[in-house]
Amino acid sequence: MWKEIDAAPADAILGLTEAFKSDSNPKKVNLGVGVFKDDQGTTPILKCIKAAEKKLVETESTKGYLPISGSPAYAANVQKLLFGADSEVIASGRAATIHSPGGTGALRVGADLLKKFRPDATLWVSTPTWANHKGIFTAAGFGIGDYPYYDPQTKGVDFEGMLAALENVPAGDIVLMHVCCHNPTGVDLVGGQWDQVVEVAKAKGWMPFLDFAYQGFGDGVEEDRAAVEKFAAAGIDFFVASSFSKNLGLYNERTGALTVVSPTAAESAVAMSHIKTTIRVNYSNPPAHGGLAASMVLDDSALYDQWIGEVAEMRDRIRNMRALLVDGLVARGVGQDFSFIKEQRGMFSFSGLSNEVVAWLKENKAIYIVGGGRINVAGLTTANIGYVCDAIAEALKA
Ligand code: PMP
Repeated sequence: MWKEIDAAPADAILGLTEAFKSDSNPKKVNLGVGVFKDDQGTTPILKCIKAAEKKLVETESTKGYLPISGSPAYAANVQKLLFGADSEVIASGRAATIHSPGGTGALRVGADLLKKFRPDATLWVSTPTWANHKGIFTAAGFGIGDYPYYDPQTKGVDFEGMLAALENVPAGDIVLMHVCCHNPTGVDLVGGQWDQVVEVAKAKGWMPFLDFAYQGFGDGVEEDRAAVEKFAAAGIDFFVASSFSKNLGLYNERTGALTVVSPTAAESAVAMSHIKTTIRVNYSNPPAHGGLAASMVLDDSALYDQWIGEVAEMRDRIRNMRALLVDGLVARGVGQDFSFIKEQRGMFSFSGLSNEVVAWLKENKAIYIVGGGRINVAGLTTANIGYVCDAIAEALKA
């Protein structure tokens, strides 16, 4: 069957990791793929998760299937994190949450669900966005539109351009937005701007689809959900794809959630029935382990507090590396202003490094950065920061 068929191109980011792995340069640095690393350069299992897993091993009595939507306790915990425990959305029962295989699974289930009921809709994404957004919604059969987001001149959000574009999105279309720690740019909307976006969504009748993959990596677990709370308060329909890959370090346990918020509990029940039929013909029901561990952390006040501390540690480490990078470049006499990197949030930085510089760093210094200049700041450590600053300074002078 495959003789006449060309091979598919490798995934750009995962392909970079493959190239990194086979590079024999002992000084090599991977600033590509978006996983958190500690100062030793490893992606640790959080202590709260280790503790929860120990308990799980002792108490788990079956590997029987979970319900199609996953464990109800997990869904309840996800809703508390997304909206706050006292949220009206929870009290009124107008959110339907399922455990999905990661944030990616949430996006795909949401896309498949929307395709059934909004078959002719266009999905609108920020320019730029995480590459897989387009891939997922294209695979689900949607056409893709772009709205302005990053302004390379100001190194911030082109909010006027964004809002003007959203004013023109037809009713019934879908608009994907990053709640915080925008990937790949690291620049987010601020308080009042979200209010304006919510107003436009309400007035124009398009469907907000919020991608919330980095809760806790911006300002804090509670602070980062401000935009979700604003959409919830508007009483409109919207979707949230959330993930514990980053904030609980559960990357390979595929632990995410799709939450569909509706104006009423009755509508929410209808939504849930269709989410279940969508899942049933896809993967039938979710993997259990990550969700059980996550729920155990979120249900236990000591483990929860430990988790909040561990998220803060990750967030602070990344902030610290941002500062060391910027100051390190200044100390090496680099004229170009990189101070904006300190202001960016989350794991990523749109560094402003050109594709030529990115290629030069890979060829000459074994430093791996995604095309377009997106740096995973968590790939920097106190051991490699000097080498990286030297290399960038040399590249910019070359
Ligand atoms: N959305 C964004 C913006 C992401 O960066 C990622 C992870 N790179 C995801 C969703 C998917 O996360 P997961 O690994 O949980 O599928």
